[in-house]
Amino acid sequence: MILEHHFASLGEAFSSKTLVQPLFEQRLVEFNQSLATLLSIDIKSTETKRILSGEETLPSSLSMVYAGHQFGGFSPQLGDGRGVLLGEVRGQDGLLYDLHMKGAGPTPYSRRGDGRAVLRSCIREYLASEAMTALSVPSSRALALYDSREAVYRETPEAGAMLLRVAQGHIRFGHFEYFFYQGKQAELDQLIEYCLTHYYPDCLATESPLESMLIAVVKRTARMIAKWQSIGFQHGVMNTDNFSFTGETIDYGPYGFMEDYEPDWVCNHSDHEGRYAFSRQPGVGLWNLNCLMRCFSKHLERDQLIAILQCYEPELQTHYDSLMMSKMGLNSVQDMHELLPELFTILAAEKMDYSVFFRLLSHFEQGGFMLLLDEVVDRERLSNWLERYELARMKNDLAWPKVSASMLAVNPKFLLRNYLAHDAILAAERGDYLPFRRLLNVLITPFDEHPESDVLAQRAPEWGRSLEVSCSS
Ligand code: AMP
Ligand code: MG
Ligand code: MG
Repeated sequence: MILEHHFASLGEAFSSKTLVQPLFEQRLVEFNQSLATLLSIDIKSTETKRILSGEETLPSSLSMVYAGHQFGGFSPQLGDGRGVLLGEVRGQDGLLYDLHMKGAGPTPYSRRGDGRAVLRSCIREYLASEAMTALSVPSSRALALYDSREAVYRETPEAGAMLLRVAQGHIRFGHFEYFFYQGKQAELDQLIEYCLTHYYPDCLATESPLESMLIAVVKRTARMIAKWQSIGFQHGVMNTDNFSFTGETIDYGPYGFMEDYEPDWVCNHSDHEGRYAFSRQPGVGLWNLNCLMRCFSKHLERDQLIAILQCYEPELQTHYDSLMMSKMGLNSVQDMHELLPELFTILAAEKMDYSVFFRLLSHFEQGGFMLLLDEVVDRERLSNWLERYELARMKNDLAWPKVSASMLAVNPKFLLRNYLAHDAILAAERGDYLPFRRLLNVLITPFDEHPESDVLAQRAPEWGRSLEVSCSS
């Protein structure tokens, strides 16, 4: 493993030297071999193992400083309160990836926090980030999970753990806000240069590199959120310090994957106003980008910044349309637009499971039609919709088995349901990682049938419908 230290070379204004502080009786309990292969990391090497786990002192490891709009209010100084950047590694795809340890111990930005993470939240993040990757959503990833015998105190004492995660970048919108609101122009320029060089090198050759890069950020963010909406993912804490400049989904806290279709659903129990409700996510994405653009008001004219922001909506809409067309097996946007609103009304009225519905719809040809009617109370309404749908789908040039196969490749059979994560966590807390591994195994190939794991495709039992997740992690 060749660890590079590009972010560290930016200097003291950007971060503080911070070492990973291993936990009491820490153990490596899960390691992502396919990701390690992409990063040319050999876990069998003792030295690599020691570096990754924090047992080896890394003089260049650091915690980053940033700011952020949290639930609408500006916090001028935040930072990695419990995360340490070990450095970067070059992937076999030529891209640079950050190695970032969550739960690594106190940092200068911990405020009143203990710098730690609990096993529960590390498992939730591991599962979610790998599930998202399998669903083709740009996301941070999980490389290694460490558990321990160290008690970490939340509402009750819990098992402390660390998660080694990987992302192209951990630079957040809040990084730019930090320097802009402090009037640190030189550092802001340095950060812009850094992002251009490492993340948006194609923009360097354009007439206005900053402008091109910001357009790219807007478009990546729009596509990421279009993906979230199409798969029913809710982030939970869309603060600007949790929005990555590289358009990756980061910071998995009280997230949720939508089960019963409910547009106003709020997964985060601490989000009392529903600011980050599922249906609000596209609007919040724009709000956050607006915060980001303000940071460049000394570099670009107001009209230019507005023009950049105007790329957001069409990009999101176009991408969302094409994702929903694939989910429905249609190839006419117009037909899709005519069918989707009524479908959403039906799903909401029936409290139908979002992913189960699309999976069944994908099987349509093999008798799925009747199965679908059994799912609802108002059979006539759905039956009318299905008739219209069938007519639209007949316009697809492809033979029905082919359409069906293409739909099965985008509509997952397996979803990270809260109750499944809950079961995996309870077992892991007892030292049994088998349920976690079984679940992970279907989530990383969610479109495969896995007949032996049918039970993991089932909807939540009554007890699993009322589980609550909050920011406490
Ligand atoms: P989040 O809502 O996860 O984005 O967290 C907001 C801020 O709180 C970030 O700057 C985190 O680093 C920090 N934070 C969260 N939990 C802890 C903790 N246990 N100890 C120290 N800082 C924390
Ligand atoms: Mg955060
Ligand atoms: Mg978090």
